[in-house]
Amino acid sequence: MPTLRKRRSTAAAHADADAANTSAGDGNGGGQLLLQAGGEEATAKNDDEAEAALAAAKETRRAKAKKRRLEAKQRLPRFEVLVEQGLMPLVVDLLSDSPKGLFSLYCVSKRSQPFLTREVVVKSSVYRGGNSREIMSDLVRRIEKRSIFLPSAVRMLRLINGRRCENLSDCWGYNLRTQKHTNLATAHYISRPFGLCICKDCVKGLTTSIPYSHFASSNERVDDRTLDVPFYDSQGKRQGPVVTTREIKQIEKAYRGADERMPILNQILKEMDDDADDDEDAVIKSVVETHKDAESKADAFIDARSQIESQRYNTSQNERSSKKLAKMKEIYETSRGLRAQGSRLGGGMEGELWARIRDVPMRPFGGAAFESVRIC
Ligand SMILES: [Zn+2]
Repeated sequence: MPTLRKRRSTAAAHADADAANTSAGDGNGGGQLLLQAGGEEATAKNDDEAEAALAAAKETRRAKAKKRRLEAKQRLPRFEVLVEQGLMPLVVDLLSDSPKGLFSLYCVSKRSQPFLTREVVVKSSVYRGGNSREIMSDLVRRIEKRSIFLPSAVRMLRLINGRRCENLSDCWGYNLRTQKHTNLATAHYISRPFGLCICKDCVKGLTTSIPYSHFASSNERVDDRTLDVPFYDSQGKRQGPVVTTREIKQIEKAYRGADERMPILNQILKEMDDDADDDEDAVIKSVVETHKDAESKADAFIDARSQIESQRYNTSQNERSSKKLAKMKEIYETSRGLRAQGSRLGGGMEGELWARIRDVPMRPFGGAAFESVRIC
């Protein structure tokens, strides 16, 4: 813009000078100088006016843009409005088959957290199908067995949507060059061992196998492989298996024989249950029932859909076959007609056609007879 202004002012100055010269004509030199001075003053005045007009236009544009932004902001529904107007259940219902959508909803505002119950997450994962359903089935199996600490609804969503090992910089597959922990999606690793989002390398490095003959394996809450030390999430809450290798080793060190060790292990688990929330049993029962119900509904839906697809396929195949049949019948009839008048044809194209179909055996319409008719 300054360049444009400068160009304009220069052009205006030249124009004024030319005009002054023209108007002066054959007059004296003093008159010319006076006119030139007057022209420069006018140019300066014009420049100031143009600058002021440009500044005013810029200010107007800014004000209009600000007004548009404010109006757009007011048009957007605020999250609080959804909660206040009781629309959140509807939003959650719309995302009933999308664990990713539910997690995004949680990320948008933590005011959505009361609406994200474990039951909602379980249903959405099962209805989603694929990896989400598989992970949730494994998780619910562990929850029912009480071999892991009960995860919250948000943690369930994190487990379903998790893409990287949650051991972060302690991950055994941590890449020192990229400074990233293992990406579970690219590793095609969908398992969530012990209700944790950890990679294969971490499982290999941080767990110990519990042999079948071991005293702890007789307790159903102890898996055949368990984490060596307790795992705490980013909020400092313990997650993962209820019994770790460290606890088992400590029991082994202090007591001898399965008869002494088992009661101690049971006592530890009982104390753990007592420390948990009072309604944990009810919550586990509700989660298991919801999962069972969602599984049966999802299976029924898949069956119904496959039946509809099968019917649609059969209908389309029948239509295709009948179209083919009609076309072939037409060809067959044409060939019969040509054969009937073939003896009367002499030469040319019709005669040649007759020569081609003359030796084709005429068989009843249908089936393999079409193969022989097709040559004409
Ligand atoms: Zn890892």
